[in-house]
Amino acid sequence: MTSTEASPNPLLNAQQEIHKAVQALNLEPAVAAVLSEPQIFLEVSFPVKMDDGSIRVFKGYRSQHNNSLGPYKGGIRFHPEVNADEVKALSIWMSLKCAVLGLPLGGGKGGVKCNPKELSPRELEELSRAYIRSISQIIGPEKDVPAPDVYTNPQIMAWMADEFSKINNYNTFGVITGKPLEIGGSAGRSEATGRGCVFTIREACAKLNLSLKNAKVAIQGFGNAGSVAAKLLHQLGAKIIAATDSSGGAYNPEGIDPGALIEFKKQTGSVKGTPGTTNITNEELFALDCDIIVPAALENVITDAIAEKIKAKIIAEAANGPTTPEADRILQERGVLVIPDILANAGGVTVSYFEWVQNLYGYYWTEEEVNNRLEEMMVRAFNNVYQMYSDKNVSMRQAAYMVAVSRIAKAMKIRGWL
Ligand code: GLU
Repeated sequence: MTSTEASPNPLLNAQQEIHKAVQALNLEPAVAAVLSEPQIFLEVSFPVKMDDGSIRVFKGYRSQHNNSLGPYKGGIRFHPEVNADEVKALSIWMSLKCAVLGLPLGGGKGGVKCNPKELSPRELEELSRAYIRSISQIIGPEKDVPAPDVYTNPQIMAWMADEFSKINNYNTFGVITGKPLEIGGSAGRSEATGRGCVFTIREACAKLNLSLKNAKVAIQGFGNAGSVAAKLLHQLGAKIIAATDSSGGAYNPEGIDPGALIEFKKQTGSVKGTPGTTNITNEELFALDCDIIVPAALENVITDAIAEKIKAKIIAEAANGPTTPEADRILQERGVLVIPDILANAGGVTVSYFEWVQNLYGYYWTEEEVNNRLEEMMVRAFNNVYQMYSDKNVSMRQAAYMVAVSRIAKAMKIRGWL
């Protein structure tokens, strides 16, 4: 992807945004100092026996950013590019995300530097269990509750919950969320990130007087979040005109059936080549004549050069950190409404919170109950952020940071940390 700026460090971005929020809220500078670093950061390395009999040593991390509002909460990423600063930034965003939604949880994040696509199922299981053993002392239902993130899934959560339960000699399902339904998962969890994102898009459209019916939508990233968002937006009458993934993309200005994209990706590993579509790159997708763009993959994909070309009115960040700070400034100047990641993709952690509550209660809700509660919480959070955005004349991102930082700062103050 071409850009005139270097790929920014997500940790520096998060720290800068926190400083801005602390200043705008007139809080003491100590709030920014405390929130700029995780409270605890653990780096581990562990051996895994590969199928060919060799031993490989993997590096993993767990960042526990802030637990003033409740136990640390946040996913585990398996990706070749995982690094310490990325995991720290992602843990900061988790604290903010939980606070924007008003959840009684703090922020954490984990990662293992690996390429899961190159691992056999047995190697993946070994790696998942070994990672959990390495961090087992600092996690637990009352301490820190991991969940899925990029390239991790319910099966991996099941192995991890099982390993932690074995270490503790009793079933500890509340240690991790995003589990399969059979072992304490929640109805609605797997669709929650995409569903939550669609609720925020619906609310944003109402504010802009934009009809979702026939609105043209482009989805960058067709994993769990992107594919569910595409399906639900289509159900609301929107036209999905393009979708891309790490191997390429599919485009049809007349609209594509998301079911066909999902099916084709299941069979071939990519949406590229879906019948009835032409190929499109990620960069071309962002420049399309459309109303809504959903970036749903990784960080820093919307650069300054790309931001200049965007024609959409709304960007809903289903991914964490997809927009660089410079691109963000350009989008704001150009009047594009960006629904920031810590709001737009908070549906996942919200239903993770529901899953954790259900595990602690041992009493389970129907999918309808889960979805209704999710809708209520997403709409409330959207309106809180939108109110701040209109009152203070700041970007939606700054507004979301201000809502979150002010809640965390209050908790830290009351607890006597500041
Ligand atoms: N990994 C997801 C996120 O970035 C979900 C975290 C969770 O459910 O705890 O929000």
